[in-house]
Amino acid sequence: MDHERLDAFVVSSPPNLRYLTGFTGSAGMLVVTARDARLVVDGRYASGAREGAASGGLAAVAVEPVPQRYDLALAEQLTRLAIRRAGFEPAAVTVATLGAWRRAAPAIEWVETAGAVEAMRAVKDAGEIGILREAAVRLSDVARALPTLVRAAATERDVARAIDRALERAGFERPAFDTIVASGPRSARPHVSPSDRRLTSGDLVVLDFGGVLDGYCVDLTRMAAVGRPVERALRLVHAVRESQEAAIETVAPGISGVAVDGAARRVLERHGLGEAFLHGTGHGLGLEVHEAPRLSRTPEDDVRLVEGMVCTIEPGAYVEGLGGARLEDDVLVTASGREVLTNAPRELLII
Ligand code: ZN
Ligand code: ZN
Repeated sequence: MDHERLDAFVVSSPPNLRYLTGFTGSAGMLVVTARDARLVVDGRYASGAREGAASGGLAAVAVEPVPQRYDLALAEQLTRLAIRRAGFEPAAVTVATLGAWRRAAPAIEWVETAGAVEAMRAVKDAGEIGILREAAVRLSDVARALPTLVRAAATERDVARAIDRALERAGFERPAFDTIVASGPRSARPHVSPSDRRLTSGDLVVLDFGGVLDGYCVDLTRMAAVGRPVERALRLVHAVRESQEAAIETVAPGISGVAVDGAARRVLERHGLGEAFLHGTGHGLGLEVHEAPRLSRTPEDDVRLVEGMVCTIEPGAYVEGLGGARLEDDVLVTASGREVLTNAPRELLII
């Protein structure tokens, strides 16, 4: 706030609100000044938030109700605090919302302040690491159960539902995203939704799933095949595994995301699969399933890894007509290198 000369910073991204205060509602705003912070919430949440702030369940913030509309309540708070220059989170405020704020408080100068809380969230504290470690163990247990969940002749949707039920049994509050089961030719598309296609002899099957535990997301991908796949498909799977191992080996404090991505990419290029690697190597995990740091080849997004970051390593290769392969594990950056949090076997599961 000093750097941007802000009198106030308005936080409205739900995961950022949760991170800063513990508030888990679907709407709300935190008005942060140099002196204090006020949580502005509507009637659905006000009494719960007050109770939480008093009992220690939430950060010790003043709770301000929204009598009618958020824009009017925000304007009232900012006027009362004599704010002139206010930062806001451009990724969490629509054009329509910003227009309403401007109309409600025409004297305020609004300053786009991107990524401030996200940068704090990228480095996990001991409590967050404890949750992510436990979540990764539980997700690995679900992965170890894949031989009983993935059945030949079942549809992709059947398998996805079986995985979702296993996530629930493992104690996750919900899947972290829509479970991906992509078989045969559909496996060549990295993020396809499960369909009614039945798993057929000769298929490669990409199984990508995750769970949320105490608000924190973990994410894992394993490969299956229906019967022994053709030699070219086996080579694809092995190349991806080698690529993933190479990328994991590079993870350490001070290493750049582009360097980790490069390690994965070089292996696939060596196997003639550079063009088949259609996405970045990984993403941060936390209150959101995709957050900072991004591990990609885009220099503009580059980051240096720092102890306490948790990210996925998930190279893949996708060949039309043959199929696709991806392996994904969750890795914590430690003082001396890395700790792989997910511990399920990476071998191709042949069903
Ligand atoms: Zn995934
Ligand atoms: Zn992922």
